[in-house]
Amino acid sequence: MRAAVYRGVRDVRCMAVDVPAIGDNEALVKVRVAAVCGTDVKIYRYGHRAIKGEGERILGHEFSGEIVKLGKNVKGYEVGMRVGVEPNFGCGRCRVCRNGLISYCDEYNCLGITVDGGFAEYVKIGESALIQGNMVPFDETVDFDEAALAEPLACCINGFESVGTKPGDYVVIVGAGPIGILHLQISRVAGASRVIVADVSEERLRFTKRFKPDVLINSGKEDLLESVLRHTGGRGADVVITACPVASVQSMAVLISAKLGRVLLFGGLPKGSDSVAIDTNTIHYNGITVTGTTGSNVSQYGKSLDLITERKIDTKSLISKRFDISQIDKALQYAESGRGLKTVIEFES
Ligand SMILES: [Zn+2]
Ligand SMILES: [Zn+2]
Repeated sequence: MRAAVYRGVRDVRCMAVDVPAIGDNEALVKVRVAAVCGTDVKIYRYGHRAIKGEGERILGHEFSGEIVKLGKNVKGYEVGMRVGVEPNFGCGRCRVCRNGLISYCDEYNCLGITVDGGFAEYVKIGESALIQGNMVPFDETVDFDEAALAEPLACCINGFESVGTKPGDYVVIVGAGPIGILHLQISRVAGASRVIVADVSEERLRFTKRFKPDVLINSGKEDLLESVLRHTGGRGADVVITACPVASVQSMAVLISAKLGRVLLFGGLPKGSDSVAIDTNTIHYNGITVTGTTGSNVSQYGKSLDLITERKIDTKSLISKRFDISQIDKALQYAESGRGLKTVIEFES
């Protein structure tokens, strides 16, 4: 089969590799669509601590496909089912796993990072992931494009749950990339009364319009603090979400927060970034909660597929370019360039 194999920094190749053999407690999924994530681009650029030395890894953790083979002990699934896969799984035994917070497990695994993933014609879903419910069927009303983006949506639901957006809230999202747009849609579903999206890219702001934000701010041209205060009647934002890898935005986030506001630092900063200065007196005197999230769990992944199935959230419109698996290097470079929103890999030819 063809697979995109990470071999070193800036060396990801489409290669012929064996179709994974599966054991009695495992499943084999034929991948139909896989999306490129910012994390894949980071691995391409800098490598990853979980992929050591000469190690090779099939990348890809956002994908959907069909079950083509099941080990004889696997129950509850059938060959031919359409499935999405939550890529993160933990040991299942430790304190964080017992609390469902698998992405913080010391023995955390992720398809496409610590084990082979979905940039391949076939991917093996191992026993631990199957037992933990990571392979989730979806019906024929959902297409493979939509389901491939259930993973980034699940990560946004994780962030949403930590700030608990409520009806009537004013929400400010800084960053109008795919993650910012997913947060915008979740905030709408949650009943936020005003959703304000800021970005420095006019092109991204223009695209965001179709998801009906109340206010768009070009923070390259307008002062973000002043604009947010003006659009919230001086109150500030009850929820602030940073959906970009920019330190100054993290500093700004507590300043644009309302009293008793919640700040979600969603986008991580580039590797090796310095510590960020944050005005702790503002947090102290205004009762602000600052939190951060990464990844998602099976519960959030299930909710994500439900929201897609119920047409509450549109993931498909975020896809701006498609590449065949043979063009994996082009796909990664395109994603790296920051043009468009989501890049997807297909397996047609
Ligand atoms: Zn991702
Ligand atoms: Zn664990």
